Amino acid sequence: MQPKDLLQLTEQFGSPIYVYDAEKIKSQYNRLTKAFSKVDNLRINYAMKALSNVAILQLLKEMGSGLDTVSIQEVLLGLHAGYAPEKIFYTPNGVSLEEIEEVNAMGVQINIDNLSILEQFGTKHPDVPVCIRINPHVMAGGNTNISVGHIDSKFGISIHQLPHLVRIVQNTKMNIVGIHMHTGSDILDIEVFLYAAEILFDAAKNFKNLEFLDFGSGFKVPYKKDDIETDIEELGKKLSKRFNAFCKEYGKELTLIFEPGKFLVSEAGQFLVKVNVIKQTTSTVFAGIDSGFNHLIRPMLYGSQHQIDNISNPKGKERFYSVVGYICETDTFANNRRIPEIKEGDILSFRNAGAYCYSMASNYNSRYRPAEVLWMNGKGHLIRAHETFEDLLKNQIPLPIEATV
Ligand SMILES: *Cc1c(COP(=O)(O)O)cnc(C)c1O
Repeated sequence: MQPKDLLQLTEQFGSPIYVYDAEKIKSQYNRLTKAFSKVDNLRINYAMKALSNVAILQLLKEMGSGLDTVSIQEVLLGLHAGYAPEKIFYTPNGVSLEEIEEVNAMGVQINIDNLSILEQFGTKHPDVPVCIRINPHVMAGGNTNISVGHIDSKFGISIHQLPHLVRIVQNTKMNIVGIHMHTGSDILDIEVFLYAAEILFDAAKNFKNLEFLDFGSGFKVPYKKDDIETDIEELGKKLSKRFNAFCKEYGKELTLIFEPGKFLVSEAGQFLVKVNVIKQTTSTVFAGIDSGFNHLIRPMLYGSQHQIDNISNPKGKERFYSVVGYICETDTFANNRRIPEIKEGDILSFRNAGAYCYSMASNYNSRYRPAEVLWMNGKGHLIRAHETFEDLLKNQIPLPIEATV
């Protein structure tokens, strides 16, 4: 996607819009499968919470991907997009037994992440093939917001509870077909990942009927210049070798599963906004845009730094700006960022806007959520329209007149 294409899309569909590049999603998918080509049975389950537009789900389905879901509603969206139930995994956290039973009845592989539900489910449905989520207590990345494998994490069954877990499985005679871990969102150090994998291999030896091992995700992609990314090729080389050796030892060809979200879609996305106002104060030049954290919350929620380009003036002289949104509270996208000179009316692009951007958008300040466009074969396809006033009123029930006096 060239700047002129992006400007044209903003003209055509109106700002703000999310634009996703189908080619980039494909190349990331192929990169991952290639890195693990030495593994005979590899399965990629796209973690759809990153970007759940049905058109994106269809695109990934065409590439051969499965789905990783975290709610029954995501399962419904996946089925709606045409995924067969057996291509969908359900990896929830803290949901009710009833929801798990409902999803199981749809023919979707369930993954249980606590002993209480495991015991209840196993007692009622001993024949159902179940995957268990283990927490290996390995820190991946330094930020506790995004490291879910550490000791205080609410995710997974602690590896220290393995004896209790094995006892439940023996008592209920339930059918454990897979073991899963997902240690967090930032794997920088491959050795840390491989260390966690060893814990999973060790745990796996306790179960005789396994069909797969699921290593979750946490692949990091670069957000800003000089950011390090997960070396997928290196991880592929090392983990494939170890996985194949484990299968020999276990005596069975298991399937290796990954469930990447960010890795597949983050870099494919750009968020295009228009500059409403340039405001010079005594200390700062603000560029105020026609969007806010209601559309892209990652900078405010996680301190994420999305690269910002001025696609209306890419060759302009660089100046320092604070880029801020229109929400009526602190709403900062970037502080003191060097950006080619910005005029009112310019179109700015936020990079890495494919993952956890639209899917976390809200109607705060009663603003509409933006449109989404898929760029494919040199053409923009509208895959979600801008919201309208009807969307804000949907499901609202005004009081009858007589009750308001
Ligand atoms: C969110 C999530 C993922 C995807 O994580 P990314 O960092 O986006 O790759 C994978 N598995 C589970 C269980 C998740 O909750």
